[in-house]
Amino acid sequence: MKLNRNYDNLQESYLFSTVARKAREFAERNPNADVIKLSIGDVTRPLAPVVVEAMKNAAAEMGKAETFRGYGPEQGYDFLKEAIADYYRKEDGVTLDLDEIFISDGAKSDLGNILDLFDADNTVLIPDPVYPVYVDTNLMAGRRIVMLNCTAENGFTPMPDEGQEADLIYLCSPNNPTGAIYTHEQLRAWVDYARRKGAVLLFDAAYECFVTDPSLPRSIYEIEGAKECAVEVCSFSKIAGFTGTRCGWTVVPHALLGGKLNAMWLRRQTTKFNGVPYIVQRAAAAVFTEEGRKQIRENIDYYRENARIIAEALTSLGIRFVGGVHSPYLWMECPNGMESWEFFDYLLENAAVVGTPGAGFGQNGSHYFRLTAFGDRQRTIEAVERIKKLLG
Ligand code: PLP
Repeated sequence: MKLNRNYDNLQESYLFSTVARKAREFAERNPNADVIKLSIGDVTRPLAPVVVEAMKNAAAEMGKAETFRGYGPEQGYDFLKEAIADYYRKEDGVTLDLDEIFISDGAKSDLGNILDLFDADNTVLIPDPVYPVYVDTNLMAGRRIVMLNCTAENGFTPMPDEGQEADLIYLCSPNNPTGAIYTHEQLRAWVDYARRKGAVLLFDAAYECFVTDPSLPRSIYEIEGAKECAVEVCSFSKIAGFTGTRCGWTVVPHALLGGKLNAMWLRRQTTKFNGVPYIVQRAAAAVFTEEGRKQIRENIDYYRENARIIAEALTSLGIRFVGGVHSPYLWMECPNGMESWEFFDYLLENAAVVGTPGAGFGQNGSHYFRLTAFGDRQRTIEAVERIKKLLG
């Protein structure tokens, strides 16, 4: 028996455990301190009533012999794929065939699982800083990783370098952790580059619901030619608070590699996956009803307003940051040249506010800090007041 030695190349995931440990130790040392977390990447608003109602109805169906359902299609029920296709058509002007859409239990699983389709001997371009899953899933398979530097100089939206060879390219827009977003022109350059290199773009659209400016792209398929080179992964987690309910989708167009990738993904999913629960798919479909869209908008607007409040404070303090407009994340430069863990300690010790040190997302994050808008309004306002007092 031989183990997968590539796991030895993974770094321990210290980020969130260290953040939690430091916050806990601080609270133990300061029992009267009221610690506020602006570090969470999880949503806090409850599911919309229309979603809960759909879940209840589906659960009731499962309890009656006439409407009970066993195994469903591995790639998802048509009623949900139709709702998603309709969403793309209305929001992005993108037309998708139902069998190009695959329902998943979330973006994270599919981002890892899709790598089954690609040889280990591929060069992968991954942004730095980044959602750590892209790096770790490729390390597990032993692929060569080339980092794409996201810096203030390139507006945190790095562009292709013709001299760089690539087989797989990860793009996340709006971005976690930076909150930066690509324009149509920039994505067009990536699509053209991928097509020239024969590469596949893995486009993570998990935060597309935060895009407010209709002139900015929410889907890679808004770019001409993208169906020939891009897979898009998306999720109900942030649009509708499904982080605990679990549902997402992946689009693998027929035009990609002459239909080969779609066929391989179907084969992979029907072999290794037995689908998302019927109850959850009914809940997800309710998100895209007229009433559902109205109700989820209230939650998204709530987070947006939190982001605006944090952004306003950072602006008033003269701190450079990106994000917070088309994203729930704000990526701020640590003040006075502080390193990100140093700033983490400073903020915790002096304001009892917790954020996420940029170093945890990659080398380029070592002097940055991520704040999130997913918290409670009053707590966000209180945290912002403390930050203003400390840094003002
Ligand atoms: N992609 C990005 C960029 C994320 O930040 C996250 C979660 O935070 C995910 C994917 C995972 O989404 P899901 O909850 O659908 O697995």
